[in-house]
Amino acid sequence: MTVSNADIGELLWRESEAAEGQRRYALRRAARAALHLWPEEAAAVAASGAELTSLAYVGPRIAARIERWLERQPEVTAPPATRRGYMTRADAVRILRRDPSWTTRYRGDLQLHTTFSDGAATLTQMSEAAAARGYEFVAITDHTKGLPIAGGKDEIAFAGQATEIAARNHQLEEEGARLRVLRGIEMNLDSKGEGDMDPALLRTLDVVLGAFHSQLREREDRTERYLAAVRNPEVHVLAHPRNRMFSRRVGLSADWSRVAALAAELDKALEIDATPDRQDLDVETLAVVKDAGCRVAIDTDSHSVMELQFVDFGLAAALAAGIPEDRVVNFQPRDELLSWTASLRERAAHV
Ligand SMILES: [Zn+2]
Repeated sequence: MTVSNADIGELLWRESEAAEGQRRYALRRAARAALHLWPEEAAAVAASGAELTSLAYVGPRIAARIERWLERQPEVTAPPATRRGYMTRADAVRILRRDPSWTTRYRGDLQLHTTFSDGAATLTQMSEAAAARGYEFVAITDHTKGLPIAGGKDEIAFAGQATEIAARNHQLEEEGARLRVLRGIEMNLDSKGEGDMDPALLRTLDVVLGAFHSQLREREDRTERYLAAVRNPEVHVLAHPRNRMFSRRVGLSADWSRVAALAAELDKALEIDATPDRQDLDVETLAVVKDAGCRVAIDTDSHSVMELQFVDFGLAAALAAGIPEDRVVNFQPRDELLSWTASLRERAAHV
């Protein structure tokens, strides 16, 4: 029995709950780093003779604590439900080693936020970072007007963003870059699965994500709400479906086999939001989804440039769950991706 990074993260998290001020902050930051950033197990680092302080956000005091845990191997009781079922960065790296082609096959991210809504980086900065990762496309999917707390914008603002994206694509073309920026949106859905934007605008976009952002703590079965969202003719991808959040909420429950079956029937995609605090859909739910055969989108939901690296969590989840490669929309070349969303739009026009 060795102490895993998940155990260390949980132990640090528990200590942070008993601490205050600067100490609490340092412990919480190290706990998050254990889960999100450390690429290998602390136990392996220690065994190799390297310093634990080589791991992100580990200072001498926290290193001493971890060393003690590695020595004594304390029994770590199960974390509360809000912190259960999340993989660590080291887990993701280990899973992806089984088939490194999953990383190279990834052509682009379909959920990115910019300063247009609640992102920290501009369209230019995000697309530069995506180009540096070798991507063929990224979709800019800022928030819509129904979510003012996240800087959601209206139709007129999105039409303005189109001009900005066209100019950026022109620039990328002149630079000989492979990357193109797609026009997307993360449309806020109400509890009936209805969107908050004019379909006329939505039909000018390359990809439309739909997501719930309210009433996320209901405990009853919410299958109907999800079926309505998947049925929404304007929505191509259901983003962060469960709406869970690490240490904050467990997310909504539904009969995922039914939701996935409807998605398969309508040729829609369910998302794996790779944000480490989300990991939504998670491996367990994906194993259920897989049998329905629906499409899956693996996106980072990045709000900053550094978050693009978290795609590994999504790729690892899909690989671990056994999602077939041809179901992953991000593995398709850009023109195939666009013909898929165009075909959905075509269908919507006939509803
Ligand atoms: Zn969202």
